[in-house]
Amino acid sequence: MQISEIELQQLVSKIVNQTIQKEDSSILDESECISLTDYKDGIFEKMEDAIDAAEKAKQQFSQYTIKDRQRFIESIKKWTLKEKYDLAKRVVEETGLGNYEDKIKKHELAARTPGTELLETKAQSGDTGLAIIEEAPFGVIGATTPVTNPSETVISNTIGMLAAGNTVVFNVHPSSKEVCAYTVSQINKLIVNLGGPKNLITMVKNPTMESLNVMARCPKVNMLVGTGGPGLVKALLSSGKKAIGAGAGNPPVVVDETANIKKAAADIITGHSFDNNTVCILEKEVFVVDKVANELIETMIHEGAYLAEGKTIDALKALITIEDQDGFHVKKEWVGQDPNKYLDALNIPYTQKPKCIICETSFEHPFVQLELLMPILPIVRVDSFRQGVDYAILAEHGNRHTAICHSQNIDNITYYAKAINTTIFVKNAPSLAGIGVDSESVVSFTIAGPTGEGITTAKDYTRKRHCVLVDGFRII
Ligand code: NAD
Repeated sequence: MQISEIELQQLVSKIVNQTIQKEDSSILDESECISLTDYKDGIFEKMEDAIDAAEKAKQQFSQYTIKDRQRFIESIKKWTLKEKYDLAKRVVEETGLGNYEDKIKKHELAARTPGTELLETKAQSGDTGLAIIEEAPFGVIGATTPVTNPSETVISNTIGMLAAGNTVVFNVHPSSKEVCAYTVSQINKLIVNLGGPKNLITMVKNPTMESLNVMARCPKVNMLVGTGGPGLVKALLSSGKKAIGAGAGNPPVVVDETANIKKAAADIITGHSFDNNTVCILEKEVFVVDKVANELIETMIHEGAYLAEGKTIDALKALITIEDQDGFHVKKEWVGQDPNKYLDALNIPYTQKPKCIICETSFEHPFVQLELLMPILPIVRVDSFRQGVDYAILAEHGNRHTAICHSQNIDNITYYAKAINTTIFVKNAPSLAGIGVDSESVVSFTIAGPTGEGITTAKDYTRKRHCVLVDGFRII
């Protein structure tokens, strides 16, 4: 049966009208929204409801322009900067990790996450017409957030994911659910006040492993973004969905004899002690060429570090780690505490509150091998730069996360960068430069080492859409 052109147009307009009616009804159908369990500005009792709401919001969001997205993002950024003191206080009180001053800085950083300005359309033209490659939304993104940067990751992920036109359902770390729920609900209010759809971001009120599994399995969730430890990343990568894995790090620093030692010591202490070392990109262990090791350690003490020696190192090890048949593990209750707390617990006197604790150890020591996330920095002497790089690669455990180098020797720097092949490689600066602190790098709280997207931004939350127009070049 042949279909005429008029019949074809009627059919197309019928389908388009049906779609518009369906989308209109989804905007106006308030009753359906209210029937969802415990609806409150994006916070839901059940993960299934949080996903349904984000999916519904996705259909509405597709009718908004990229300018609208940026309008919402600008308002989220302004709100974050205005509320940074309150957010920092809430995070410290609820999680008991890090310190208030640096949590403020982290929120300032989250507010600098880039939005729609990073999206780009590429075009190729030729004899046969035109191909346009657009960055289109992926759909509903299921995102997890770590206890170490809770509201900061919610804000930063929201900016990047909404910029790309997606909606988001969060399964946050349970120990940060209050501050995350506050952040999610405030952001939703801002967007609705600006005329945007409800529930562009949602979360389950009481996140659990079960709610995370529901999110990972639900077909309505189109992409997973996991920011957290190795267990989480492994679980999400085995879901069978498109997944971005932003996992653990254990960033090594290598310092050679050509480095500006005074600057290297200051930079290492600045990076390492930030927020009691609760950020995945921060300096976690140092390999220094023997020739300059004493000078580095002395300058670090001058910069505010406390040097632990001899039996104090063993006492620290007993305090913050536990050993079983699988080896040493970090005692969670000691993650991200103020440096003086460790010394107080061991009855060690100190003249002024230290910025961090440094100590000389062997390469095999658990302080080097474990991702402590504490202001305790092991330092290992090495015979040569090459040995330092070999150790750095082993200590990084293939996370492909972050590495830092202090050297004036370009060959050494290049060798190290290529050999360790991490997502972030910082040269002659604090690790924080890797995520845009006093540097040209972009800001993000989701650094995807295992899946290789690197410092994730709006672009990583898109699917590439090739629109191909074939010109009437050949006359048939
Ligand atoms: P975490 O892995 O304990 O928790 C993160 C989230 O995953 C939480 O929502 C938690 O409930 C869930 N989860 C934990 N284990 C799981 C498992 N086996 N299966 C399924 N879900 C699981 O991490 P955390 O303690 O909140 O955060 C610290 C870790 O996150 C560190 O290892 C740090 O390096 C890493 N981190 C990485 C980045 C990055 O961008 N790469 C950023 C921040 C933190």
